[in-house]
Amino acid sequence: MSTIKALAIASEMFPFVKTGGLADVVGALPQALANEGVETVTLIPGYPSVVHAHDTAAQVHTFNNLFGGPARLLGTRGAGTAVLVLDAPHLYGRPGNPYLGPDGKDWPDNAQRFAALAWVAAQIADGAVSGHAPDLLHAHDWQAGLAPAFVRFSGSRRIGTVVTVHNLAFQGVFPRTLLQPLGLPPEAFTLDGVEYYGMIGFLKAGLALADRITTVSPTYAAEIRTPEGGMGLDGLLRARAHALHGILNGIDEAVWNPATDPMIAMRYSDALLPHRAANKSIVQERFGLVASPTTLLFGIIGRLTTQKGPDLVLDALEALLGLGAQLAVLGSGDSDLERRFAAAAARHAGRVGCVIGYDEGLAHQMQAGIDALLVPSRFEPGGLTQLCALRYGALPVVARVGGLADTLIDANEAALAAGTGTGIQFTPPSSEMLQIALERTAQLWRQPALWRRLQHNAMRCDVSWRRPAAHYAALYRELLAERAA
Ligand code: ADP
Repeated sequence: MSTIKALAIASEMFPFVKTGGLADVVGALPQALANEGVETVTLIPGYPSVVHAHDTAAQVHTFNNLFGGPARLLGTRGAGTAVLVLDAPHLYGRPGNPYLGPDGKDWPDNAQRFAALAWVAAQIADGAVSGHAPDLLHAHDWQAGLAPAFVRFSGSRRIGTVVTVHNLAFQGVFPRTLLQPLGLPPEAFTLDGVEYYGMIGFLKAGLALADRITTVSPTYAAEIRTPEGGMGLDGLLRARAHALHGILNGIDEAVWNPATDPMIAMRYSDALLPHRAANKSIVQERFGLVASPTTLLFGIIGRLTTQKGPDLVLDALEALLGLGAQLAVLGSGDSDLERRFAAAAARHAGRVGCVIGYDEGLAHQMQAGIDALLVPSRFEPGGLTQLCALRYGALPVVARVGGLADTLIDANEAALAAGTGTGIQFTPPSSEMLQIALERTAQLWRQPALWRRLQHNAMRCDVSWRRPAAHYAALYRELLAERAA
C-alpha cells in the first residue's frame, strides 16, 4: 500500500493552541493516520504560543506580501506530528484567544487572517513550497474552508480535497466586497462557489467545492441534512449527500489514560476502580462540596453556551439536589450562564460548586473523580468529553443528539438485560427529560454492583483513534483512486 501525503489545515492544534475539540482532533488524528499509511503535515497559524513552541524550527518558505505583510513558513518533522507554522505577525501575532480581540469580539480582519491560511495551503498543494507535494488537502472547519476554493480557482494542480465540519454553527460569513481583497476571482462568486446568501461563506465554499465532506459522527451527518439541523446549509448538504460521510472522533489514549495521567491525584484502571474515591474527594474539596463518597456527584465540563444546554441543568437543579446529588461545573462562555452557575454555587454552597475558566488539569481531575458527566447538548457534532468520561469510568448522561447518540449505549432495561449499557441518554433535550435522566441515574447509583458493571463497560469501550483513522484513510484512498481513474 503506497503512502499518502496529506496536508491538513486548521486554526487550532493541541498542544499548541486549543479552544475546543477541533484542536484535540487536529492534534491526535495525524498520529493515528500514520499507522494507516498516511503522512500528515498540518498547517496552522503562527499565533504567539505556536511560534514560541517552534522557535527552533527551520524556515522552509517566505512570502514577501501575504495579505499586507511579510510571512514565512516554519517547518518541523516527526512521525505524525509534522507541522508547518504560518508565521505572519501582522495576521496572527496577537496573544489570547485565536479569534477574538480584547473586547471579546471577532478580530475585524478574521476574513483576511483565515483566507491567508487557506491561500497558503493552496500554494503548498500547488507545489510552491519545496519538499512539500501533498496528494490531498484536508481542511478543518470554516477557517480552512476557502482552501478548496483557492485550489479550484487559482491552483494549477487540482489535488483532491476533503473538508471536515466540526461544528456547522460557525460558518465564517463575510461581505461580498471582500471578494477581490481576499484574492478570489469574480467567477468564484456563484451558487456552487463561495456565494452564500449574497455574502462570502468560507465553510459554504468548502462544502460546495471539496471532493469529500466529513463530519464527526454519523448521526450529525444525517441531522445536518435536515432544515432543523442544517443551519441554512441543509439544501447544499442534501445535494452533496453522496460526498458526505460521518466519521466518529476518537481521543488520544496517551493523553487520556487514568492509569498514567499525571494530572490526576490517584491513578487507577478498570481493575482498580476503588482508587477513584481519592480523586472524588479531591474534586469535592476543589469545588467546595461536602466530602462524601456515597453522594452521587455530577459534573459538567465544557463551554457554557446554549449549544451545550447548561441552562437545562440550571432549570433541573432543584430536582438534582432533591435526589441528594452534588454538582461540580467547570466551564466558561456566556456571561449570563457563568453568573447563573456562580449564583447557584453561592445559594447551594456545599452541594453545587463551580469554577469559571478553562483548566485542562482540572478537567482531567474531574473526569477521574465525578460519578457522572452531564452533556445535555441541544446539538453536538461529535463531542469529546463523553469519550473521556467513558475512559475514566464517569458515566455520561447525555442528550441523544449527534455524536452523543453514536458513542454510548443507554443503560435501559434491554441493555441491562443484555449486560451492556455505558451511560444514560435522553431525548428531546429539555429540562423535563434531563430530570428523568437524572432520576434514572440516581436509581442506578443506588445499586453499587450494577453501577460498577456499567463503569467497567464504559472503560472497556474503544474510544481510540484506531477505527476513525482507518475510516479516514479509506476515504482518502477512495478519493485518490477516483481521481486517478
Ligand atoms: P467543543 O469542541 O464543542 O467545545 P468537545 O466536547 O468536542 O466540545 O471538546 C471540548 C474539549 O475541550 C474537551 O477536550 C474538553 O475537556 C475541553 N474543555 C472544554 N471546556 C473546558 C474547560 N473549561 N476547561 C478545560 N477543558 C475544557
